[in-house]
Amino acid sequence: MITRSSALLQRTDPPGADVAPLTLESSWQTQLSRAVRDPRELCRRLGLDEAWLLGAERGHALFEVRVPEAFLARMRYADPQDPLLRQVLPLAAEGESVPGYVADPLAEAEHTPGPGLIHKYAGRVLLIASPACAVNCRYCFRRHFPYDDNSPSRAQWERSLDTLREDPSLHEAILSGGDPLAASDRQLAWLTERLEAIPHLKRLRIHTRLPVVIPDRVDDALLGWFAATRLQKVVVLHINHAREIDQSVVDACARLKAAGATLLNQSVLLRGVNDSVEALAELSERLFEADVLPYYLHVLDPVTGAAHFDVADEEARELVAGLREVLPGFLLPRLVREIPGEASKTPL
Ligand code: SF4
Repeated sequence: MITRSSALLQRTDPPGADVAPLTLESSWQTQLSRAVRDPRELCRRLGLDEAWLLGAERGHALFEVRVPEAFLARMRYADPQDPLLRQVLPLAAEGESVPGYVADPLAEAEHTPGPGLIHKYAGRVLLIASPACAVNCRYCFRRHFPYDDNSPSRAQWERSLDTLREDPSLHEAILSGGDPLAASDRQLAWLTERLEAIPHLKRLRIHTRLPVVIPDRVDDALLGWFAATRLQKVVVLHINHAREIDQSVVDACARLKAAGATLLNQSVLLRGVNDSVEALAELSERLFEADVLPYYLHVLDPVTGAAHFDVADEEARELVAGLREVLPGFLLPRLVREIPGEASKTPL
């Protein structure tokens, strides 16, 4: 039986603020639907002044704000440099045109063999299982992705799945999005049943941020279809800072682990969020405490609107060299870049 987090969401409200305390007793679907989507509300809840609001409204017009309460509750009040807030706070700088930054930095449009499918690397294929996310990360390389063209009906999925059925070289299906866990469990169970019926598929990999931003997503309904599949299960979480991992996230990780998942994490190296040896080392340590292995540290994909997060390659290498001095090898993430057309991620 899943015990829902009952954390009171008061930490982001100022002392004495006229805001009723909220609890996280509601379902993940309710938490998702009640995510903060108004830049004015985000700034008010976190005690940011008018200067931040102007930028937030401009950035929001380009890529809407979305922050679930459970994630908001981990941010510090009246701290515009909070590393969790930095990931979700729209800025006016997102409207600047920067050479080299484009809408589709990974050229994914060239690798879509069917609706909902992206096939870039040998042996595995990626399925856009949901067009929605629980949180809108300002640096997201899919912030301009044409989700409307990649939201297949079940009939279209059947045709796209034929691509997997007919290619015995494929051994792994990767559920991505958006966030694949934003889809209903009924839909995910339907998709997983079809995938496990393909004899040459061995693994199901899920790339998700939902267990981090709404840990109650890992509920009995999810664990039911997830634990039942014959496929080996890998969950790749997306966590960029140690403070994202509170006890509710640790508990969600434990539930996934108990259901048979191998847990990995990928981070993005982000200016103002985790661009120090201390922050990255603390992240690796905290991940391991939650039974999650650091896997990749990605340099920023050059997507329009995210240039202010960039960390230069040389600095990235120096940070990882510094990390190597303070962490055991198994806690050192691989520093990589994704280059369109390459057969794998490229180590830096
Ligand atoms: S796809 Fe991942 S990185 Fe992009 S907005 Fe959604 S959760 Fe954030």
